[in-house]
Amino acid sequence: MSSETLEFQAETRQLLQLMVHSIYSNKDIFLRELISNASDALDKLRLESLIDKDLVADTDDLHITLAVDAEERTLTVRDNGIGMSRDDVIQLIGTIAKSGTAEMLRKLRESKDATAKQELIGQFGVGFYSTFMVADKVTLVTRRAGHTGGTRWESTGEGTYEIEAADDAPQGTSVTLHLKPEDTDDQLHDYAVDRKVREIVKRYSDFIAWPIRMEGSTEALNSMKALWARPRSEVSDEEYHEFYKHVSHDWTDPLETIHMKAEGTFEYEALLFIPSRAPFDLFSRDGKHGVQLYVKRVFIMDDCEALTPQYLRFVKGVVDAHDLSLNISREILQQDRQIQVVRRRLVKKVLSTLTELRGKDSDRYGTFWGEFGRALKEGLLDDADNRDTLLDLLLLPSTASGELTTLRDYVSRMKEDQKDIYFMTGESRAMVEHSPHMEAFLAKGYEVLILTDPVDEVWVERVNEFDGKPLQSIAKGQVDLGASETPAEQQEEFAPLLTWLGETLQDDVKEVRLSSRLTTSAACIVGDAHDITPTLEKMYRAMGQEMPHTKRILELNPAHPLVTGLRSALSGDDRDGLEETAELLYGVALLAEGGELTDPSRFTRLVADRLARTL
Ligand code: ADP
Ligand code: MG
Repeated sequence: MSSETLEFQAETRQLLQLMVHSIYSNKDIFLRELISNASDALDKLRLESLIDKDLVADTDDLHITLAVDAEERTLTVRDNGIGMSRDDVIQLIGTIAKSGTAEMLRKLRESKDATAKQELIGQFGVGFYSTFMVADKVTLVTRRAGHTGGTRWESTGEGTYEIEAADDAPQGTSVTLHLKPEDTDDQLHDYAVDRKVREIVKRYSDFIAWPIRMEGSTEALNSMKALWARPRSEVSDEEYHEFYKHVSHDWTDPLETIHMKAEGTFEYEALLFIPSRAPFDLFSRDGKHGVQLYVKRVFIMDDCEALTPQYLRFVKGVVDAHDLSLNISREILQQDRQIQVVRRRLVKKVLSTLTELRGKDSDRYGTFWGEFGRALKEGLLDDADNRDTLLDLLLLPSTASGELTTLRDYVSRMKEDQKDIYFMTGESRAMVEHSPHMEAFLAKGYEVLILTDPVDEVWVERVNEFDGKPLQSIAKGQVDLGASETPAEQQEEFAPLLTWLGETLQDDVKEVRLSSRLTTSAACIVGDAHDITPTLEKMYRAMGQEMPHTKRILELNPAHPLVTGLRSALSGDDRDGLEETAELLYGVALLAEGGELTDPSRFTRLVADRLARTL
């Protein structure tokens, strides 16, 4: 087949544009990306040849070669690993499969300053395309192990690429960069210099498990020691960070590094990282989850979900388990008792690292919380064993100040007579803060937690208490704010009004009663202790779930003129329009908590009519 010119997928084109006009300052890292890909390709070939005895592949001397041609100004990175078929090349090199690409590009377009742009690119990690920061043309020649013919791919990064058959391609992949013209001011970044290349390898890729050699030499440039197998004391932070970038495909340093080793019946080493930024796909359904699994230094799989729970999906790294079979499947892993033990220990270790971080550096912990707090809260639903630890890790907004608070600090500020931890869920801070339910609590000086993440609606249903103190929604059930029991005579006085309102509004509410929550508003709507909240109801509907409308309870402020006026009117002779007043009262209570009226046009007409009569 002769040469074909194909177009890059639209998003890829935009990313390439960015790379060609390189706005990323540390250009050296393109080499780390290529070596990282070569190393992955060698890992995959070794694994495949162990599992598939029929694979016709050369695995005698798996390695990576670097070739510099100063005259031609080219740099080639070659591996004899798994290679790619023609379809693979189109799929993997011609498109970006990453979720969140569109989102990232949108943010890039919107952000104005260069540092923010760099950070975004770094957070996203652009892998192979980073070559276009330093090269004006890239040639890739590859042959999939076990296949006969190969493929040649070439591009200047300007929107299209050429692809053709390459019958004589050796097994594996070679990537040749035609380096941009030498910039005399920029000696430091001349990648056609042998010494420069060696230096970058040592710096960024020392831990790569395969030998990296200069062409014509048998000596390896890298030490090849698996980082996780080395004693902690001998590994520098920089080495840990470069390794993190290799496994995570992130270009930013991690926030925390966790290195552990377990001996005894089930030996394993784990090197885990907590990133400093959330990936773009943290909340997308097809987002990646899990660490890499090795068995005695042999790479087994990426994204091993069995080793970390869903709510810790942001944890990256490697687990090297010594006593597993090499061709273990994902399904078997999920069932494996020892893997479950390892998983439990990893979870404990990650959580204790976070607890420690919170204690010693609240700023860094704040950063962590801002990026991953919402994911961590999911643990309150799934991980009953660690619920107490997780509760201690929460940082929540409250009425006390603009700062986030821990539950423990909340408890330390509780009033002497306060038995419950008060919270209210809702769609936004402003909505919760100004809702009528808040009135009496603010008047009495009680602090209320303001929970506005969608997941908050769910975990508060599951968690009953913290430190022996019940968690109590201020928008649910009866509240007992100390003294103010409604006197019996008042109850009696209002009884006819309550009954009448209950009947009039029976399609909307299941009960009408007097309230001790209100100081300024006339009415508010509350749920029974186990009723689903309106926000949650809305969320379920948004997810396409059929939901019956939950009737709640209308509470009245017995001191409000609208309520007392309505009571008097009801016992009077002229009862014209009272039904409408009832309707308006309910509508106002609904609007005050940020709810939605079922018939807004009717409501506005009633209000307008009333107003007209006052003029
Ligand atoms: P990532 O490594 O994050 O997946 P890259 O842009 O670096 O993204 O690479 C894209 C894909 O191209 C890789 O996932 C891999 O499947 C394929 N690839 C890149 N380089 C090689 C190589 N040297 N050998 C085999 N496959 C490769
Ligand atoms: Mg890569």
